[in-house]
Amino acid sequence: MGATIPNSKQENCKENIVQLISKVTSASHLPTFSSLIKHQLDASMSLPDRTTVLVVGAGPTGLACAISLIKQGVPDIIVVDTLLQGDNTSRALVIHAATLEVCHRYKHEFHSGFYNGTFQALDTVQCAEPLIDLGAKVKTMGIRGRERSTLVSIDFGSLAKYTRYPFGLLLPQNITERVLTEILESLGVKVLRPHTVAGMKTNEHDRCVVDVSFDDGQIISARYVVGADGARSTVRSVKPSTI
Ligand SMILES: Cc1cc2nc3c(=O)[nH]c(=O)nc-3n(C[C@H](O)[C@H](O)[C@H](O)COP(=O)(O)OP(=O)(O)OC[C@H]3O[C@@H](n4cnc5c(N)ncnc54)[C@H](O)[C@@H]3O)c2cc1C
Repeated sequence: MGATIPNSKQENCKENIVQLISKVTSASHLPTFSSLIKHQLDASMSLPDRTTVLVVGAGPTGLACAISLIKQGVPDIIVVDTLLQGDNTSRALVIHAATLEVCHRYKHEFHSGFYNGTFQALDTVQCAEPLIDLGAKVKTMGIRGRERSTLVSIDFGSLAKYTRYPFGLLLPQNITERVLTEILESLGVKVLRPHTVAGMKTNEHDRCVVDVSFDDGQIISARYVVGADGARSTVRSVKPSTI
């Protein structure tokens, strides 16, 4: 039976090896070589075998969800992503007012009656301001056709009476993810990469727990699973009958 090395020590060890390689090798191919080693060390890291909440996907949705859960006092959260940090492509360029400040006024039934409140997304989890600092605010935006004729024209300024963010925020998704990842890490949770969820099913002994399986055979037993793994979600495509 092998000894279990705590995750923090594994991380230190991994960083030391990468730094050592950087010191002893001076060739120009060094970054590629050390990132390759880092990749392999990351890949060989074992996952914890259980958690309260497993967030699958460290895109904007998964990161914001994990930050929100921590800020609401949920302990014991694991976030996994199939990609290494920085390996994703940037798709979302515009962050809309509704994302910065989602003001859903709606009635929600709680045990004690009705709750009538204002819900704010990135603002609530104190992530809006750091993103606004890095992005470019645009009041209007247009999409032009081949002959430069205007196909779509958007006037974000007209939102002024509805939101404190009456603009479109231009910020590439990879920067949004970097900022949210840093905030998540400052709260003590590191995204575990690269780990790819392959499926999940109800735990044989506890029906309130699901066993989430990874493509390398590892399993995490979780009470709650957040399927933030994008448009072609593996988690959200699991048949309800299996969980
Ligand atoms: C061309 C294009 C332009 C767009 N422009 C905008 C825009 O301007 N503004 C806007 O708001 N939206 C835009 N979108 C939509 C944008 O992509 C989504 O708003 C955003 O990506 C949603 O974030 P997400 O975190 O839900 O999903 P994603 O960004 O897709 O993140 C999902 C994460 O889950 C990980 N993952 C996937 N499968 C697994 C698995 N099996 N196991 C573990 N991890 C997994 C992925 O690696 C990824 O990091 C655009 C989309 C496209 C295609």
